[in-house]
Amino acid sequence: HIVLRKLKEIMLKNPDISPSETLYKDPSMYHKRYLKKMRDLGEGHFGKVTLYLYDPNNDGTGEQVAVKALKQENGHVESWMKEIEILKSLDHINIVKYKGCCTELGGQVVQLIMEYLPLGSLREYLPKRKLGVPQCLMFAQQICQGMEYLHSKRYIHRDLAARNVLVENDNLVKIGDFGLTKYIPEGDIYYRVREHGDSPVYWYAIECLKESKFSFSSDIWSFGVTLYEILTRCDHRQSPPIRFCDMIEASVPGGPSGQMTVVVLIKLLERNLRLPCPKDCPNEVKIIMEQCWAAEPAQRPLFRSLIERFEAIRR
Ligand code: ADP
Ligand code: MG
Repeated sequence: HIVLRKLKEIMLKNPDISPSETLYKDPSMYHKRYLKKMRDLGEGHFGKVTLYLYDPNNDGTGEQVAVKALKQENGHVESWMKEIEILKSLDHINIVKYKGCCTELGGQVVQLIMEYLPLGSLREYLPKRKLGVPQCLMFAQQICQGMEYLHSKRYIHRDLAARNVLVENDNLVKIGDFGLTKYIPEGDIYYRVREHGDSPVYWYAIECLKESKFSFSSDIWSFGVTLYEILTRCDHRQSPPIRFCDMIEASVPGGPSGQMTVVVLIKLLERNLRLPCPKDCPNEVKIIMEQCWAAEPAQRPLFRSLIERFEAIRR
């Protein structure tokens, strides 16, 4: 008690050197010293995700959390802080749960703490299981539910793909990775990217490739590609990049060089060439995929209607 009172006195006298009260009370503040690294979970273009045990009692009773850190090489600090803010504002069963932050070096480095999903992404999970079509469609519907919620908040995801869908258990998936997510102001219908970096081109709609125009409808296109991945059980020999590269090489003998790849990809899509129908894909689902890949964005369905259609197919 005496120590605490003394500490309070000191803090009141020196507001700038004392740690803020919230640092001790805010459950979303994770302290670096209590985080024990367990293993690497994965990495993409911008982030690296690691499994930690958060163990303030230091007795192994803590909770497992997934910690995402911005890769040091690229300094996308602003968009990184946005990613954290966006995830913090989302609350849906099919979206990975934000738990908090951990700051280092006086707030210069911020790490994102989220719930840990033990089965990893669909890319790790699907090839190992012999999932039947009904379970694939259940996952597809859950992705639509998370996406419908995201769109209702006027966010577009821009990076929907099996690698960014996480698996909680055999009956539940959640959308993760909001690194490219953008807010679309009321009245606007699309977002035009300015920075051209590495992009997941094989998941992109035609208008994204041609004019860098991203919209709610371009997320639907990417959902179609994700649905294709789910029905091929993320078999890497049939992955969208491999399938499209085969088509690109077939149309340009010897294969196009570097920058030309996207030009050829656009030409293929404009000739209405699409990913092939997966082996055991039901006809109704094949139709959904084709509609998601309509050349005209306005012709593509909305997540709301896809949820109803999956419900009907699964009945
Ligand atoms: P990036 O923005 O760099 O693509 P992601 O957020 O997609 O990073 O994470 C990269 C990989 O880490 C994912 O594909 C997945 O395998 C793994 N991962 C990410 N978040 C979690 C989590 N909460 N639980 C378990 N694994 C995760
Ligand atoms: Mg990712």
